[in-house]
Amino acid sequence: MIRTHTLGYPRIGPKREWKFALEAFWAGKSSEAELAGSWRALRLQQWDDQRQAGLDMVTAGDFAPYDHIAAMTLRLGAAPARFGFEPGQSRWARHFALARGTSSQPALELTKWFDTNYHYLVPELDPATRFAPDAQDLLDELALARERGLAAKPVLPGPLTWLWLSKSRAQGFDRLALLPALLDAYVRILRPLHAAGAAWVQLDEPILALDLPDVWKDAMRAAYAQLAGTLGAQQGTAGLKLLVATYFGPLEDNLDLACGLPVAGLHVDLVRGLGEAAWVAERLGADKVLSAGVIDGRNVWRDDLDAALALLRGLRSRGGELWIAPSCSLLHVPVDLDAEDELPQPFKGGMAFARQKLGELQWLAQALREGDALSPATATALQASRAARANRLADARMRRAELRARIAALPCDQRASGYAARAARQRARFALPLLPTTTIGSFPQTADIRAARAAFKRGEIDLAAYERRMREAISLAVRKQEELGLDVLVHGEAERNDMVEYFGEQLEGVLFTRYGWVQSYGSRCVKPPVIFGDVLRPKPMTVQWSAYAQGLTQKPMKGMLTGPVTLLQWAFVRDDLPRSEVALQLALAVRDEVQDLEAAGIGMIQIDEPAFREGLPLRQRNWQAYLDWAGRAFRLSASGVRDDTQIHTHMCYSEFNDIMPAIAALDADVISIETSRSDMELLQAFGAFQYPNEIGPGVWDIHSPRVPDQAEMERLLRKALDVIPAERLWVNPDCGLKTRGWAETEAALAHLVSAAKAVRAGT
Ligand code: GLN
Ligand code: ZN
Repeated sequence: MIRTHTLGYPRIGPKREWKFALEAFWAGKSSEAELAGSWRALRLQQWDDQRQAGLDMVTAGDFAPYDHIAAMTLRLGAAPARFGFEPGQSRWARHFALARGTSSQPALELTKWFDTNYHYLVPELDPATRFAPDAQDLLDELALARERGLAAKPVLPGPLTWLWLSKSRAQGFDRLALLPALLDAYVRILRPLHAAGAAWVQLDEPILALDLPDVWKDAMRAAYAQLAGTLGAQQGTAGLKLLVATYFGPLEDNLDLACGLPVAGLHVDLVRGLGEAAWVAERLGADKVLSAGVIDGRNVWRDDLDAALALLRGLRSRGGELWIAPSCSLLHVPVDLDAEDELPQPFKGGMAFARQKLGELQWLAQALREGDALSPATATALQASRAARANRLADARMRRAELRARIAALPCDQRASGYAARAARQRARFALPLLPTTTIGSFPQTADIRAARAAFKRGEIDLAAYERRMREAISLAVRKQEELGLDVLVHGEAERNDMVEYFGEQLEGVLFTRYGWVQSYGSRCVKPPVIFGDVLRPKPMTVQWSAYAQGLTQKPMKGMLTGPVTLLQWAFVRDDLPRSEVALQLALAVRDEVQDLEAAGIGMIQIDEPAFREGLPLRQRNWQAYLDWAGRAFRLSASGVRDDTQIHTHMCYSEFNDIMPAIAALDADVISIETSRSDMELLQAFGAFQYPNEIGPGVWDIHSPRVPDQAEMERLLRKALDVIPAERLWVNPDCGLKTRGWAETEAALAHLVSAAKAVRAGT
């Protein structure tokens, strides 16, 4: 028996319908009933996609209004008591309270979902946490599916994953203490689903792709034994069938654990865990369903169906029931490639979004059922897929001889001199005061700036007019910085829509889709660039703006670039080269830009790497290899300059404890990090490590409109001075200011400058 299914589907809609529905509702422009109507319409459309692709079951529970972990938290009745929900409050209202906060309560913390760019809402637990399970949302959805004549498979975060992803609000509280009560709550959710006709429930346990402490492994084993016992969940019994799903990586030391769980089926990621396919097939009993995740749910390329088919044929010989699926939920890819009317060939032909990936499943299942004697239709489909993939990979833009020659003979990735020698030259060149003040790059993206960009895109103003308006915005930012008395200025990034898109649009080998949106969190979507071929920088990307800005002031003007690791991390990347090699290509492009800035008289250049840490692999044993190539890419981009050119970098976080050596090895002359919200606590890592170069720990949390006063910033600076000597300390906000208004910006920066002066006077 061969079946097809998906682990989940994009929520946002082919035209971002869900985003707009949410935002209209939040703005008070639509009612809850209208929102529910939009949800239903979109859910039916998603099911239609799944049904048309011939999937044997559609998904339920994956279309969370904001986030699937928050939905599970509510279902478990485990929302923190601090929200004080009223009995009559609707599911929608509760969900959005967790997601967006209320007048008296901050929202749940938002954090990255494994190594994706999706963010989930972190459950908060403490010893007083009680569960009050309620499966009504799923029951309603199952009823809707039944009404449509569809067999639905509810998809829920598994109990161990939900617990692992939560955080304890009480010091020293071991969340595993809640497991017995949690399992009881799961049972009370799963039973009614079974009673309502669900034959299968998928429980997602992606933590099986992580390094798990032994107690968690034991807990996983015990938990599923208990669930199986209570629910009669084993294959062959009349009970509810559980499919445990793992994804985002190989199982490694959790392989036996996963294969041995007493459930009816196991889904594995056979894209990232391809090397384990045979092991899993051997270990997983033939009485269990093997769901083979062979279609890449993390990328936008058509799969190699021949390879997938060969793999599936091999797995079939295992004897047990075989399901075919994407590697993970399709949440992480855009919805529909057919909507793209401007993508160049042969790249469009070589791509697949969620709808197209469902189509791939269908052909694979078809081919597998037909065996050796493929029907003409199947043979034609496979041939078309093969040709489309081959055409993409054969395109001349995939291999640029001039670039490959440079990659084969890379320059040294170290600066000419060590930090101490460079610092002496830079001190002589820039003559900055102690505790120099600066900002992270962007200044407010005013309505005026956005209007100019929109008008230019629509062709209402020409390039000359657009550039004039950008120069006006830049000169305004420079004038304000001079008035404020900042020491190192920036041009303000008015000309940039987004720190990745701006560069991606100017690089060869990178394309942008029109509708390729992917949910980041809630209604927030990103449209990742697609690095499809060899990356080349045909001409300078930022020099004219930086040079213009430098011409307006005697103060040093920092050039502002996005680093190679971040460009890579926030894109969909070609699948025929290792990421490490694509990073080197990007590094050369940035290196060329850095050198052009230097030649144009820009003495300080900041290379932003906010995504450097989030690129860390899920398994710790893979960290060093990543840090090696990512660090090298950064250094390659930064090292081609004179000693007296000052390289800055910026990272929007500061949990550096476990990667301090790699951060130091980047050897940026100055690094700015986010620390104000942690009250400088996070700076400790730099002190403990005796970080050798200069640091600007943020003294102003720019994430809210609140303007901290001078005393507060002074206090933070003094705290920083306990850890970092004054000669190596900079004064700056936590991050860029593009989301702030000018009024707050000017007020806060005035306090920042006077705080620096006051502390300077005292040192
Ligand atoms: N230079 C960028 C800015 O100021 C950095 C943004 C970021 O770190 N995410 O906007
Ligand atoms: Zn930042």
